[in-house]
Amino acid sequence: DQAQPRKPAWIRVKAPSSQGYKDTREILKSNRLHTVCEEAGCPNVGECWSHGHATMMIMGEICTRGCTFCNVATGRPEALDPFEPGRVADAVAKLGLRHVVLTSVDRDDLEDGGAEHFAQTIRAIRHRAPEATIEVLTPDFLRCGPAALETVVAARPDVFNHNLETVPGLYPSVRPGARYFHSLRLLQRVKEIDPDMFTKSGIMVGLGETREAVLQVMDDMRAADIDFLTIGQYLQPTPKHHAVARFVTPEEFKSYETAALGKGFSVVSATPLTRSSYHAGEDFARLRAA
Ligand code: SF4
Ligand code: SF4
Repeated sequence: DQAQPRKPAWIRVKAPSSQGYKDTREILKSNRLHTVCEEAGCPNVGECWSHGHATMMIMGEICTRGCTFCNVATGRPEALDPFEPGRVADAVAKLGLRHVVLTSVDRDDLEDGGAEHFAQTIRAIRHRAPEATIEVLTPDFLRCGPAALETVVAARPDVFNHNLETVPGLYPSVRPGARYFHSLRLLQRVKEIDPDMFTKSGIMVGLGETREAVLQVMDDMRAADIDFLTIGQYLQPTPKHHAVARFVTPEEFKSYETAALGKGFSVVSATPLTRSSYHAGEDFARLRAA
């Protein structure tokens, strides 16, 4: 394994311990839900869960892809659980969430990639927690026809998020099995189908990308009419995963933020601890106000 650069002080976070954190964990556990917060070993879990904010991961814990930055197990997933949408909606109501982020593993084994399950979960949340705004963070539906994406958009989430994850030159080593321009086009199509839907995407930095390549991704995203950009530091979940090439400094993040705002994104979140779902509720409020 490659020697890793030392974690700088700006990456260190406090261990979770608050009562709010424990209450969130209990509600998620009793509803038998998986979260990307735990699966990814997210450094923000103490802060987010203390406010009841968790990103639920539907359609199981096993993914058909094997992205080299991701800690989710790869293999043959289990059958879909028809009661899961109801349990997610119940947890959203119990947590009193005003904004929920819903994501999933990739389900290349399913003809529609799990699109209908996403739509059912959105509908169940609308029914049980009508006040909550909903953000979906979807797979790329690479092996499905156009109907899969249309099914999710027709369920009218408030924000449609799909992460490009990295610059195109690093796809073969970071996101094998995915296609950069397919993912970009997916987001562009969301806007074509429903121009009122907010679109969002994000990348990780510190994987070996150049600044020029990051600026090019921003241009590509704006050409696809993406409203909201997130950029965060990549952290290696285990020594078997893709190496951290370097820790990008807070000043460089600031300069990415300035560049992105200059290119016309409505909202930009670019800090070392930014994750796709970090402060998603507050950022959605900014997006709506923009
Ligand atoms: Fe979960 Fe997202 Fe918060 Fe991380 S940033 S703990 S993944 S909600
Ligand atoms: Fe992880 Fe998503 Fe890649 Fe699956 S598709 S390995 S869940 S990042």
